Amino acid sequence: MNHKGLLIIVSGPSGAGKGTICKELLSRDQSVLVSVSATTRTPRNGEVDGESYHFMNRETFLSMIDEGGFLEYACVYDNYYGTPKQFVIDQISAGRNVLLEIDIQGALQVKKKYPEGVFVFVLPPSMKTLKSRIEGRGSETPESLNKRLSSAFTEIEYIKNYDYFLVNDTVCHATDLLQAIITAEKCRVDADIEEIVSRFKEETKNA
Ligand code: 5GP
Repeated sequence: MNHKGLLIIVSGPSGAGKGTICKELLSRDQSVLVSVSATTRTPRNGEVDGESYHFMNRETFLSMIDEGGFLEYACVYDNYYGTPKQFVIDQISAGRNVLLEIDIQGALQVKKKYPEGVFVFVLPPSMKTLKSRIEGRGSETPESLNKRLSSAFTEIEYIKNYDYFLVNDTVCHATDLLQAIITAEKCRVDADIEEIVSRFKEETKNA
């Protein structure tokens, strides 16, 4: 019996705290793995190549697009970001749950290719909190801060395309909610249910 793992897509405006929630989930739940994205963005302080992202130049990224190496990719704030396809396919086929922390354009592409994914939208408690979280990172210029804030307004409209939403008031509570979503999805009646029904029928005959 080889059940496929879940593909969990987490997105939401920059600064909503997706990354922190995903990190907390990974430390709590060993059945979940994160897909490390590729990007052409410059590493921030403390970011490690191969862990935070696979940092690469534009040329390498573009040739990976040509080779069909991405499950999805998007240009976000003037840089390319993409999900390497093979890792996701291998892990899901092996029954592991894979988390993608990606932007909305990317999530919509995944939804077309893999509608059975679990699509989760993270909201900040307020726009004011969002602004102070982005400022707190200290990595944005006033121009890029404004870009991220105005995108957030537009992005929130896309919540309708998602299966679940959660408000990141505290990391602990938001992660509890994400875990609850995963638990509910694992209990969903889907194609695998036939196997369970057959087992029960067999057991009934032998009882
Ligand atoms: P940051 O530069 O702050 O790390 O990320 C900027 C945005 O890019 C975030 O919204 C993040 O979720 C998104 N992002 C990160 N990796 C990927 C990816 O592989 N694909 C897409 N479409 N977006 C990504």
